[in-house]
Formats: sequence, C-alpha cells, structure tokens
Amino acid sequence: MGDLSNFLQKHKRSFPIGLSGKTGMGYILTGGISPLSRSKGLAIDQIMEIKGLWGNGKEFHLTRPNRKKESILEWKALCGAAIFLGVITKVKLRTQPLRPILSWTANLSFSQLSECIKQAESWPNALSFQWIWGDNIFAHAVGEVVNSNHEAIIINLLEKLPFTSNRIIKKVNNMTSLPHLKLAHKKDNNTYHSEVIGLLGPAWQNNNLKVLKVIKDLIDNRPNKSCYIASQQLGGLTNSKEIDTSFVHRDAIWKPWINGAWEAHDQAKRNITLKWMENSWNNLEFICPGVHLAQIHPHLPWHQKELSSAFQDWLPKLQAIKAIYDPKNVMPTLK
Ligand SMILES: Cc1cc2nc3c(=O)[nH]c(=O)nc-3n(C[C@H](O)[C@H](O)[C@H](O)COP(=O)(O)OP(=O)(O)OC[C@H]3O[C@@H](n4cnc5c(N)ncnc54)[C@H](O)[C@@H]3O)c2cc1C
Repeated sequence: MGDLSNFLQKHKRSFPIGLSGKTGMGYILTGGISPLSRSKGLAIDQIMEIKGLWGNGKEFHLTRPNRKKESILEWKALCGAAIFLGVITKVKLRTQPLRPILSWTANLSFSQLSECIKQAESWPNALSFQWIWGDNIFAHAVGEVVNSNHEAIIINLLEKLPFTSNRIIKKVNNMTSLPHLKLAHKKDNNTYHSEVIGLLGPAWQNNNLKVLKVIKDLIDNRPNKSCYIASQQLGGLTNSKEIDTSFVHRDAIWKPWINGAWEAHDQAKRNITLKWMENSWNNLEFICPGVHLAQIHPHLPWHQKELSSAFQDWLPKLQAIKAIYDPKNVMPTLK
C-alpha cells in the first residue's frame, strides 16, 4: 500500500491506505479501513473491476454494478470475502485527488481518551480518531485538508482535544508520512509471535465510560507488555450501503482490535495470551458485536465464531457461493 500511495503521489492522486504502508493486497480484499475512510469509504468501495481465478481454477472478470438493484452476488462475495474464494490477479481501483493531511498525536489519560472519543463521535467525516493502549495511551487524529477554510475548521477541532503530553500537530503530503500508531515501551530481546482480532461496533455514546473501564481492566490484566488494545474510527462513507459487499457491518463506528503476543515457541504463554484475547473479545462483545476479518484464524477454535460475527446472515449464502466456486477448499475455509 505504501508503494501504491507513493506511485499515486507522483500523479497527484491518492488511495485510502490503512495505518501501515507495509500491507499488501490483503488490505484491500478484506475491507480496508483507512484513517481517510470516513470521507473516502473502505478500500473495497474503490474497486471498479476485479479479475482472478476461483478456487475451482475458472477465470473471472467482474465490473462494479452500477446500482444497488443490479446487485451481483459474486461481486458482493468478492468485495470483503475474496480471500476465501479465489486468487485475485488484478484490480482496477478508483483514486482520489491528493490533498494535504493534518495529523494530531498526543499521550492521553483515561479521562482524556474518554473526552476525545466523545468529541470524535460528532466530528465531520474529514476527521478520524485512532488510539492504542498499552502501558500508556497514545492517540492519533487524521484529517484531510480540502482548502484553507476547511483547514482552519479542522485545526480548531484538533485544538479542542485534551492531552497530557507530547501533542504534535503537523501537516504531511502523503499517508505514508503519517506517524505510526504503536506502543511506546522499550522492546526486550525476545522474539514475539502474535494474533489479532478486530471487532466492529456502533458509537459508544452513553456507554463511553463503561467501555473504557472494561478496556482498562483488560489492559491491567494483560499477559505481557506486548499485548494491547487499539481502535480505529469508521462512520461517514463507510456507513454507505450504495453497493452490496461482504463487509456487512456498515453501521460500525469503532473498530477496536485486540493484539495478543507471546514469546515465540512458548506454548504455555501462547495459551495464556489466547485466553486473554478470548476474554477481551467476550467482554467487548456487548458494544462490538461484529468482527472485521482482516486477520483470519482457521487454526484457532474461535474461527467459526469469527466467521459468523463477520458475515452474520450473509454467511450461509457465502458458503453456498464457495461450494460452487471453491468446492475443494483450495482457499481458506469458511466453516
Ligand atoms: C502494521 C499493520 C497495520 C494494519 N493497519 C490496517 C488498517 O489500518 N486498516 C485495515 O483495514 N487493516 C489493517 N491491517 C490489517 C491488514 O490489512 C490485514 O492483515 C491484511 O489481510 C494484510 O494483507 P497482506 O496482503 O499484507 O497480508 P497477507 O498475509 O499476505 O494476506 C492476508 C490474507 O489475504 C490473502 N491474500 C493476499 N493477496 C491475495 C490475493 N491476491 N488473492 C487472494 N487472497 C489474497 C492471503 O492469502 C491471506 O489470507 C494492518 C495490518 C498490519 C500488520
């Protein structure tokens, strides 16, 4: 995605890449939530044409349906669930004009995070809020600047956000130049392995403090310092139902994700971390009933649960489509 972004920059265009420039096609195929998605939509919303081979070896080449009523089941299946159905060899993507991006980063306390989330829930689509919680809470707000009047409005909103320390507001000209959302603690010399589960749910509104207290408790009891909980903001155009896709959680406003890590090759510590992740998911399910399958876990016992939370009522139809196009389960299982 970084290469795509840097290539487009030369042509004064941009694409809503995610928080890392290092991800590949999987970012686009699994939905693709960008800090710019509230004003641009998900990465799958930018797909105009898609080419590839189904799991059964047959070629396909589909173009984006014009209107919702033209809904094509295969298109819906591929936009968000392609990785279960076939190998994508080519996509034609919509791009947008390149505009400057304002970035606000700071360290926050518990109550400041609560206030920031409250403010972000009433922001215009041009702004989004991300945070990561380990030993400390680090937050990142991102806004695309349309013109100088708009810039003043965005800066005004950013200046209303509370913070404890290290507040930096800066303007960059490409998504790849944004600061990274990462933990501040010093890493030890161990190699860590990890799993990630991404959840999806509506605005927290009156549940704000309740959710943050749950997260604080989970963080206080995390197995080690490399485990954390973070979140991205959706809304705006990600809520658009213009074209049917396999990203069914179009009402989602927050995507908290749980990162569980353990010292490589230590099965006992792996089990403890996986238990912590499951417990975190169970505790957050009341506010985040959905799952974003950016990471799949066919090797873990919770795969069936993540599939049904990701695709809900659409799952049986998706499984029927897979039975036609990938009958031998060449691609990852949908069961
Ligand atoms: C540092 C970091 C930051 C991230 N930030 C975001 C973010 O901001 N927003 C977001 O939505 N997600 C984010 N993610 C999640 C990321 O988008 C997913 O993990 C995604 O699946 C990664 O795709 P990949 O191609 O890089 O990885 P891979 O592991 O190579 O692929 C992921 C899956 O996609 C399948 N796949 C890849 N290419 C194809 C293809 N051509 N045809 C069929 N299947 C294919 C693979 O088989 C695999 O199952 C982030 C991940 C990381 C590590």
